[in-house]
Formats: sequence, structure tokens, C-alpha cells
Amino acid sequence: MLEQLELLLNLQQIDLELGELIAEGELLPVRIRELEDEKESAKSEVRASEARLEDTRKSRQKLERDLEDQTARLADLESKRLMIKTNEEYAALTHEIDFTKQEISKTEDAALELMEGEAGIKRDLAAAQEAVAARAGEIDAKIAELTSELGRLNDAIAIKRDERLRVSKHIDGSTLLRYDRILSSKGDFAVARIADGACEGCYVRLPPQMVIEVRKADRFIECESCGRILCWRPERDDG
Ligand SMILES: [Zn+2]
Repeated sequence: MLEQLELLLNLQQIDLELGELIAEGELLPVRIRELEDEKESAKSEVRASEARLEDTRKSRQKLERDLEDQTARLADLESKRLMIKTNEEYAALTHEIDFTKQEISKTEDAALELMEGEAGIKRDLAAAQEAVAARAGEIDAKIAELTSELGRLNDAIAIKRDERLRVSKHIDGSTLLRYDRILSSKGDFAVARIADGACEGCYVRLPPQMVIEVRKADRFIECESCGRILCWRPERDDG
């Protein structure tokens, strides 16, 4: 019975280590996804800036076409001056010429403003592209590191599972079932040591007679409070 108890403690140690490895292994893919998201959002900022630049460029090109039309219109109006016969016609034409000149001036101002805006967007875009390229490099390196860590972790988990299988082969079927049942209901561990006369699983003090029985280790005794299998101490030479 003592041997079985020691095997259970051995199994318990393996399960604790396995649980830690699995928990760690679940965190890594989450971290990798976060890094990928960060890279993607940085890139989408650059794409937004590129789209802004393109919009500004198109608006400016439209203004340039407008300016060409307005300039042609002005030349046309001015060429008509010589053909004017009445004062009324002259006044009307002069008014139209003045109006077209004002339009040209407004278009030129707007085009200039867009050109300045475009230069600013280009500067921001270049800076953002540089920053994203640098950060993406860092992120890729970190992801590669985490991915290889995940590989190592998965290897360690496989080794631990093998170890568990080897140890559990030496444990009686019914004992193993009992252990697994308690472990899955408790979620943390199934075998509780006695420390200062209390169960280390639930900290409830045990009757002295029960401590004596547990110490004998000739049968499995479960804690009446938490149901864990009690053991006196793990070391063989102390038993
Ligand atoms: Zn207990």
C-alpha cells in the first residue's frame, strides 16, 4: 500500500508539472495572435495614410483640370473684347472676365493648399512606413521565438505524458481510477499530505486516531472533509 501511495505521489508530481506545461502552452498561441494583430493594425494605419494621399492627389488633379478649363475660358472671353459693339455688351463681358479671374484665383489657392497637405501626408506616410517596417521586424522575430518555444513546450508535454503512462502502469487499476476521480473533482490535486495534524488539501484538522491510521499506510484513507487521499509523508525512509 505504501508503494502504491508513493506511486500516486509520483503521479501527482507529474500531473502538476504537466498542468503547468499545458497552461504555458495555452498562453503562447494567444501571445502570438496578439503580436500578429498588432502588426496588422500598424499596417492598416499605413494603408489608411496611403488612401488619404491618393484622395488628396485625385482632388488636386481635378482642380488642375478645372484650372485648365477656367484659363481656356478666360482666353476665350478676352478674345471677344475686340468684337464688342455696345457699352452694355462690354460691361457684361468685363463682369464675366472678372468673375472668371476670381474663380481661377480660388482654384489656384485650393490647389496650393492641397499640395501642401499632400506634402505633409507624404512625410507622415514615410515615417509611418519606416516605423511599421521596424516594428514588423521585431514582431516577426518575437513570433519566431515564441513559435520555437511552443515547439519545445509541446515536446516537453509529450515526454511528460509518456512519463505519466509509465508510472500509471505500476498503479492498480482501481487506485488509479480513484485518483483520477478525485483529481477531476478537485481540479488541483488528489493526494493530500498531513501537515501539523491537518489535511493540506482543505486545512481541516484530523482526529489524532486518523493521523495514526494514515501513518500506518496499510490502507487508503480519504479526508472526511475534502475527500482527498491522505498520506503521512512521501519519503520512503521516513515511513
Ligand atoms: Zn481534506
